[in-house]
Amino acid sequence: MSVAEARSKGIGEHYILGGEEVVIVDSLHVSCDGGGGVLGHPVEYITLEKGGEAVCKYCDRHFYHVDHPRVPEIRRKGEPFQP
Ligand SMILES: [Zn+2]
Repeated sequence: MSVAEARSKGIGEHYILGGEEVVIVDSLHVSCDGGGGVLGHPVEYITLEKGGEAVCKYCDRHFYHVDHPRVPEIRRKGEPFQP
């Protein structure tokens, strides 16, 4: 398994920006379960385009691929948090 593949198993960088949860990922394939527990939802598999973005239809978590043009702004303005 490559480093990139290993990291894609993780959930990426989480930020709160403008009241919404934003995740920066370096994988084009992510899964979201809403964090599990009472706040969780059925696992949703999301495919991103390179430099693209997507929103989880269950929990509105916003995923940005690391090449997305907003990523530097998110890292600068977002509030990092541990999910
Ligand atoms: Zn979700």
